[in-house]
Amino acid sequence: MKRTLVFATNNLHKLEEVSQIVGDQIELRSLKDIGCKEDIPETADTLEGNALQKARFIYDRYQVDCFADDTGLEIEALQGAPGVYSARYAGEGRDSQDNMNKVLQELQGETNRNARFRTAISLISGGKEYLFEGIINGVITDEKRGEAGFGYDPIFLPDGYHQTFAELGNEIKNHISHRALAVQKLSDFLKTTLK
Ligand code: IMP
Repeated sequence: MKRTLVFATNNLHKLEEVSQIVGDQIELRSLKDIGCKEDIPETADTLEGNALQKARFIYDRYQVDCFADDTGLEIEALQGAPGVYSARYAGEGRDSQDNMNKVLQELQGETNRNARFRTAISLISGGKEYLFEGIINGVITDEKRGEAGFGYDPIFLPDGYHQTFAELGNEIKNHISHRALAVQKLSDFLKTTLK
């Protein structure tokens, strides 16, 4: 029998990406699918905290197995910033270009360009909570390169590659990314518990 799981997102692109990894044994439902129109709070100060907050919000209201994710770019020379504040690093109402400009400016003259993307996924299944993490290491470039992807993709050069995420394109990125790694762990877990 197929198992149904709610992914606490309305981002159809993310839903599709995750569906491909978890396979057809698991039917994913979005927030829209379950009729959730509320703005889910994300007020924790860690990625794990936010992922858990979102998953608990859905579980408490709908009593369904569900998971939620949160991602951040963590830069070594900035003590892990922008981290949990990645979406709004340059301030409310600013966009990805502003966020990247801020990072590039803060790293001007900095030789330590080490950074990583980290995704935390919180799963609530049968009332129990589980956490999964995906990390990809890399460096921040001196300037933006490439058009694909979103967020900080044009300034992130993953280890082992000569192109930024935005130059590599979604097909390659979605195989090696932080999110893909975290979702793969979730998927492996779900498959073992399905048996
Ligand atoms: P979210 O938790 O997936 O919504 O991600 C929060 C923020 O992190 C986004 O608004 C982006 O700025 C950044 N981000 C997340 N994933 C990626 C990615 O794969 N590439 C570039 N930036 C990302």
